[in-house]
Amino acid sequence: MDFSGKHVTVAGIGVSGVSAARALAGLSARVTVVDGGDGERQRETARELEKEGIAVRLGDGETLPDGTGLIVTSPGWKPSSPLFTAAAQAGIDVWGDVELAWRLREDVAAARNASVEGAGSPMPQARGGRRTGAAPWLAVTGTNGKTTTVQMLASILAAAGLRTAAVGNIGTPILDVVLSGVPYDVLAVELSSYQLHWAPSVRAHSAAVLNIAPDHLDWHGSMAAYAADKGRIYQGNRVACVYNTADPATEELVRAADVEEGCRAVGFTLGAPGPSELGVVEGILVDRAFVENRQRNAQELAEVSDVTPPAPHNIANALAAAALARAYGVEPKAVRDGLRAFRPDAHRIAHVGHVEGVDYVDDSKATNTHAAEASLAAYEPIVWIAGGLAKGAAFDEIVIKSAKRLRGVVLIGADRAVIAEALRRHAPEVPVVDLERTDTGAMAAAVDAARALARPGDTVLLAPACASMDMFANYGKRGDAFADAVRAIAGPPAPQQ
Ligand code: ADP
Repeated sequence: MDFSGKHVTVAGIGVSGVSAARALAGLSARVTVVDGGDGERQRETARELEKEGIAVRLGDGETLPDGTGLIVTSPGWKPSSPLFTAAAQAGIDVWGDVELAWRLREDVAAARNASVEGAGSPMPQARGGRRTGAAPWLAVTGTNGKTTTVQMLASILAAAGLRTAAVGNIGTPILDVVLSGVPYDVLAVELSSYQLHWAPSVRAHSAAVLNIAPDHLDWHGSMAAYAADKGRIYQGNRVACVYNTADPATEELVRAADVEEGCRAVGFTLGAPGPSELGVVEGILVDRAFVENRQRNAQELAEVSDVTPPAPHNIANALAAAALARAYGVEPKAVRDGLRAFRPDAHRIAHVGHVEGVDYVDDSKATNTHAAEASLAAYEPIVWIAGGLAKGAAFDEIVIKSAKRLRGVVLIGADRAVIAEALRRHAPEVPVVDLERTDTGAMAAAVDAARALARPGDTVLLAPACASMDMFANYGKRGDAFADAVRAIAGPPAPQQ
């Protein structure tokens, strides 16, 4: 693709916008970064970009700069933004950073091969040594479990001896990885619904939608629009569309997808698998989708105990990762080795203490009810610490599903009332401590209150089902405050015998 002299407007001066702006400037495009914010953080980044010859306009993220030929947008811009209305009227394309990465990957591979063969090239160089095409993508989306599944997948691919990386929404902008020129065999790509919305031409080798529950509806406009954006991940799949048999919405998306001939629908289930599924039989993860023809029985992949933590939703994540790896041709042994080597990121069902016979578990990353429901299903009896910013969610279903497991509930944060209401309606017998506080000391008070409710054998579970920004900078800080408070009640470690 030739960007030379083309006027590209990059919407957003965050991580993905900066990555896109630098990539485009490196390809000789005339780049203007626009952002509605004008704070110190934005200004500092703007100064850095301007030094590199990239124009920046802060304080206005809505007016289309004159001469724009293409917009590359960050997730923060809603599709209804005036910037895109103006672009649509002028017939200007809008891409996300993922679309840009997808369109550049072949060029980067061609340039790498040219450099391997000794020809000069303006593209970043790699020291791969041999000719390789652009790495295919194994892609994952879903309301919850994306990061975990992509990390499991990367761990499995690495165990198979493949050169791979976990990229995308997971933290490393995919553009940086594609443009690095490092010759990967295959990429494990996490895609958010926002990224998929602006990635019309991405065609994964195989893709999985883990689950779909209401989230980010203010951005997408409706549940149907949110699901449709998630469903884009299946477009043009070559080998397998992986779906969750327990979530019919994911299967519907497979049915609606326009895929390459021969591409198969492959389900994953926590029960015994049907003929084209992966599932679980007597504590063993098994594959009935990618077995060789002559093998009538399911192929054993790993044991449930190989997955950390072995909570049901995490087994589902492991099956989805295994399905994508198997679609790529990975052997069962590598699936097992990769799952064994995998460790979840912090604040995702992390065991942070055992005090007076009670386990304390930090699932601060459970920032919506669908996620919290999954971790509540993994323990019993539970003292549940919940609350924060509810983002308009309803709590009836989560309370109804979890009521019988609850020893008690401690509520913190701005939107306690909506959770308290649901508890009153559907679990009036469960004791609730409503802390009525949002100050930073509230977490220590919550842990004290939970300790008073818990009995030996119980689990105190921080699974807030809410965003954290009313009380903490992010979910990580919220989880840290929980772990600190648990350490405080545990006292100093016992001296070694
Ligand atoms: P994402 O990247 O989609 O936000 P993560 O892997 O970071 O997902 O997990 C976020 C939270 O979602 C976890 O802390 C857990 O509470 C919950 N979760 C993980 N996997 C699933 C799943 N398959 N179904 C429902 N909830 C899940």
